[in-house]
Amino acid sequence: MQTRKFGNAPDVSVIGQGTWYIDRGDRKQAVAALRRGLDLGMGHIDTAEMYGDAEPVVAEAIAGRRDEVFLVSKVLPGNASRRGTITACERSLGRLKTDRLDCYLLHWRGAYPLDETVAAFEELVAAGKIRSWGVSNFDTDDLNELLAVAGKNKIACNQVLYHLQERAIEHAVIPWCEQHAVAVVAYSPFGHNDFPSARSKEGALLQGIADAHGVSPRQVALAFLTRRPSVLAIPKAGTSQHAADNAAAGNLVLGESDISALDTAFPRGPKPRGLPML
Ligand code: NAP
Repeated sequence: MQTRKFGNAPDVSVIGQGTWYIDRGDRKQAVAALRRGLDLGMGHIDTAEMYGDAEPVVAEAIAGRRDEVFLVSKVLPGNASRRGTITACERSLGRLKTDRLDCYLLHWRGAYPLDETVAAFEELVAAGKIRSWGVSNFDTDDLNELLAVAGKNKIACNQVLYHLQERAIEHAVIPWCEQHAVAVVAYSPFGHNDFPSARSKEGALLQGIADAHGVSPRQVALAFLTRRPSVLAIPKAGTSQHAADNAAAGNLVLGESDISALDTAFPRGPKPRGLPML
C-alpha cells in the first residue's frame, strides 16, 4: 500500500475507507469489511457525526487496533461554533470509543465564522483530542479565507468530491492544495452509486485498461484519481471482497498512455462556477 503525506503525518494509506451508509447494511459484514481493509493496509478511515450510526460501527472495527488507524471524523457546520465544535468532537470520541482523532474536519462551510471553528480545533489539538484538523468541500475562495485565519501549515486536508465523471477540483482546488501542502482527499471516488457501466463506451475503455493490467475497473479508477502525490481516496466498501479489491489499488501505478486515454474518455470539462459536492 502506497502512503501519502497528510498534514504532519508522513505516511497515510493512499486508499482509505469511507463509512457513509456503512450502518445501513449488515453490521457484522460492515465491521468485517473495515477490518479486512485494515489487514490490507487501508488504515485511513473516514467517518462523520453526520453518518448516523457509522461511528459506532467504526468503533467496533477498530477495537484493539487503534494504533493501526488514521482516524478522521467531521463536525457538522451547524455545530461548528467555538463550544459546539468541542462538544461535537467529544461526542464523536465517545461513539468511536477512542481518546483521539488523527484529523477532525469541518464537513462544509456554514454560518459560524471560521475563526471560531479554528480556535476550537486548536484547543482540541492542545488538549490532545485531535492530532490535526482540516476541512471538506472548500473551494479556493474559502481556502484563502481559512488560510488568512489559521496561518501556514495548519490545514491538513481538504476532502472534496472527485471521481472519473467529476473532475472539477483539478482546475483550481488541487493546485491550491499542492501550493499550500494541503492533502486532497477524494470522496465518492466511485461516483457514490454511479460507476461507469462496462456497457458504456467509457466503461468499456476502463474495462480494457483493467484487463490489460489484470485488475478491476474500480482499481483503475482509484489509481487514476490518486495519480498525483497530493491526492488520497476514500472509497466506501460494505463487504470484505470490495474492501480487498479497493486495497489492491494502493499498489497500482498506471502508465502515461492509460492516463491519457482516461483523460480523453472522462474529460475534465470546463471549470464550474461553484465547487460540486454531494
Ligand atoms: P463511493 O465510495 O464512491 O461508492 C460506494 C459504492 O461503491 C457502494 O455502493 C459500494 O458497495 C460500492 N463499492 C465499493 N467498492 C467496490 C468494489 N470494489 N466493487 C464494486 N463495488 C464497490 O461512495 P461514497 O460512500 O459516497 O464515498 C466514499 C466516502 O467518502 C464516504 O463513505 C464518506 O466517508 C466520504 N464522503 C464524504 C463527503 C463529504 O461531504 N465530505 C460526501 C460523500 C462521501 P458496497 O457498499 O456494497 O461495498
